[in-house]
Amino acid sequence: MEFELIKKGPISDEEIIDEIKAVMKKLGKSSITIKDFDANSKINSSTVTRRFGKWNTALNMVGAGINNMFYSDEELLSNIKDAWLKKGKQPSRRDMDNKELSKISSGTYLRHFGTWYKALECFINYISEKDVDTSTEVQEPTSSSVIKHKTKRDPSDRLKVQVLMRDGNRCRICGVECSGGLHNIHFDHIKPWSKGGETTLENLRVLCSHCNEALGNSEE
Ligand SMILES: [Zn+2]
Repeated sequence: MEFELIKKGPISDEEIIDEIKAVMKKLGKSSITIKDFDANSKINSSTVTRRFGKWNTALNMVGAGINNMFYSDEELLSNIKDAWLKKGKQPSRRDMDNKELSKISSGTYLRHFGTWYKALECFINYISEKDVDTSTEVQEPTSSSVIKHKTKRDPSDRLKVQVLMRDGNRCRICGVECSGGLHNIHFDHIKPWSKGGETTLENLRVLCSHCNEALGNSEE
């Protein structure tokens, strides 16, 4: 299973920032003026200021070689996972400045990873790793017969993001977009857990709350 990121837009913020970096490198300066930029770049500085407001804001976004010492890779990537789950799909750089979605600002990501896209590429590796299975025996008491499962009933956050990456935040039955994030999204066992279905990427799918209720099996 391979995951692909959605890349869109004519010129992204990341590309603008990369371009500023490229001009800095070319001129050997850690801080450049609008004049420097216009003389050495394919992009016009007005594109930059339209996007970021002030020229200095753009330079701050580039971070000028300042490394962020406050967050580990694990913390940064885990925070993307949380934002992805809250939104139900791939968060944009701007989403990271929304405090309801993210604890860590986009500027920190850009300083750490260079571009938002590179942060997402690192995230793909992070999220595709297997969960470390801490329990050897998973047993849940069931009313009738005892079914042995290899997995836990509730999918881990990591697995939920993998399902969202594959299905998007659209219901696999009716196709509706679950815009309310996790409030509307249900991770349904295709073969029900009660009938021995496992909690795996292959056996999980995204459902809206409506279809999930309509199905009416005992899945959460
Ligand atoms: Zn539905």
